[in-house]
Amino acid sequence: MSYQLVWFKRDLRWQDHAALAEASKRGKIRCIYIVEPELWQQPDAALQHFEFVRESLQALDAALRPMGGCIEVLVGEAPDVLSRIWREAPFANLHSHQETGNQWTYQRDLRVAAWCRAHDIAWHEHAQFGVVRALKSRDGWQTAWEAHMQLPQRTFSEPVFWRAPAPEPLLLQAPNHLTHDPPLRQMGGRAQGLAALQSFLKARSLGYRGGISSPLSAPDACSRLSPYLSWGCLSMREVVQATREQLAALPPQAVRHRAGLTAFISRLHWHCHFIQKLESEPAIEWHNMHRGYDNLREQEFNTAHFEALQAARTGWPMVDACVTMLRETGWLNFRMRAMLVSVAAYPLWLHWRPVGEWLARQFLDYEPGIHWSQLQMQSGTTGINTTRVYNPLKQAQDHDPHGQFVRRWLPAMRKVPDSWLWQPWQMPASVQAQAGVRVGLDIPMPLVDLGEATKLSKQKLYERRGMQAVREGKRAVIEKHASRQRVTTRKKSNARTADNLPQMQFDF
Ligand SMILES: Cc1cc2nc3c(=O)[nH]c(=O)nc-3n(C[C@H](O)[C@H](O)[C@H](O)COP(=O)(O)OP(=O)(O)OC[C@H]3O[C@@H](n4cnc5c(N)ncnc54)[C@H](O)[C@@H]3O)c2cc1C
Repeated sequence: MSYQLVWFKRDLRWQDHAALAEASKRGKIRCIYIVEPELWQQPDAALQHFEFVRESLQALDAALRPMGGCIEVLVGEAPDVLSRIWREAPFANLHSHQETGNQWTYQRDLRVAAWCRAHDIAWHEHAQFGVVRALKSRDGWQTAWEAHMQLPQRTFSEPVFWRAPAPEPLLLQAPNHLTHDPPLRQMGGRAQGLAALQSFLKARSLGYRGGISSPLSAPDACSRLSPYLSWGCLSMREVVQATREQLAALPPQAVRHRAGLTAFISRLHWHCHFIQKLESEPAIEWHNMHRGYDNLREQEFNTAHFEALQAARTGWPMVDACVTMLRETGWLNFRMRAMLVSVAAYPLWLHWRPVGEWLARQFLDYEPGIHWSQLQMQSGTTGINTTRVYNPLKQAQDHDPHGQFVRRWLPAMRKVPDSWLWQPWQMPASVQAQAGVRVGLDIPMPLVDLGEATKLSKQKLYERRGMQAVREGKRAVIEKHASRQRVTTRKKSNARTADNLPQMQFDF
């Protein structure tokens, strides 16, 4: 007998799962996840992503079993797998969420759509976030976001599964070629996501305002929901609704708590706002958002600089400590991510694409739409955002004034006296000998002169920006990608472009 096929991708939950709810309304359901070998071969894939998915699938499978179902894991390219199971047991309806993924998943979805047409199968793709497919204009986007978030959560009651689950628990082996699984990363699974949500809403959000910029306080002050949103263990709608409920329950005098939750909700808008950019223009994964910035950095890629950055050997302690923390935990707060990209893009003058591939593998929460838009924004190639150049020495002074952070992640810095924390490479030989550290060995020399290199890179960027063709190209980018929200924060004066159109405010 026929069944409704539910294809899980980056939506590894059963609550507020539109595809599952819709399918179960129509009849018996069969749930699958496809391990696509080519997908895991892409340069943005890492072992930590696979392991997080594995943990989340196991939790999902365990949740479905008491209801009489399970999730089947199949290996192969999606159209081949669908063909295989269709030949064994035909189905007429395929249900999934819309995916705004990388170029590979975009092409795969085209192949799956063609396969469905050829086999007369209806593919029902449901919106997963406040992202609008085939969006005509950014006007009205905010209203659509709000409408999505206000809809009741999709329930999945009394499901009838197509057949009894396989008796054995779900086992999954990671492909051999995958590497990088940070020892201190967050664990996959809905229970872990819900625990993070609850502890944030009830207590940790008190520290959100003022706590999210320093890498010392951010791991606790930030929600830490990003991997659970990126891999779909939680739905965006349930996070928005739970936050609004918590806000409504707080008394007016809970000013700090309310401010934290309000600021958090604005980040949830940004999540979808950034994914919308990739949805509307998939090419920004590979090409500059403003093509007027083409060939700015492409010809000058310094491999030695890139290798030193990845090895946490730039010589700037704050940068090297962030790279180390990221390598060990799979997470970094927004400001430090922005600083890493800024250092790569300006003083090191590295093109964002290879840097982005490396960071995609480092970030457990890798979400292509946010990631590539942010990479471009922090590298100055969108043409519409204020240039933000983060000075790693100033970031250290502002956000790690006593050196706790750099000393935690860089053992050699533990021996460096306080007065040399910002520029340890300038320690005289006598101080080095006394401290027992050697500049150039234990502590790297900076790759370039920070001031000089930054000045030169800004000059190159401003020259390009000043060109008439580049100025003229800006309007089209604004029309397509810029938020229509008015800016109400301290950077108000920067918030309008020369064309007097509103622009996205993005920093804390
Ligand atoms: C270069 C760069 C790359 C990034 N890549 C990713 C990525 O691949 N995946 C990802 O989820 N975030 C990315 N971010 C955005 C941001 O740094 C992370 O979302 C945030 O640090 C995750 O921690 P959190 O969940 O505790 O954040 P919170 O501050 O608690 O925010 C809650 C949620 O809001 C969203 N959010 C927060 N900040 C942003 C932002 N600036 N832009 C868009 N959405 C935001 C995320 O979904 C996040 O989980 C990137 C930022 C930069 C500068």
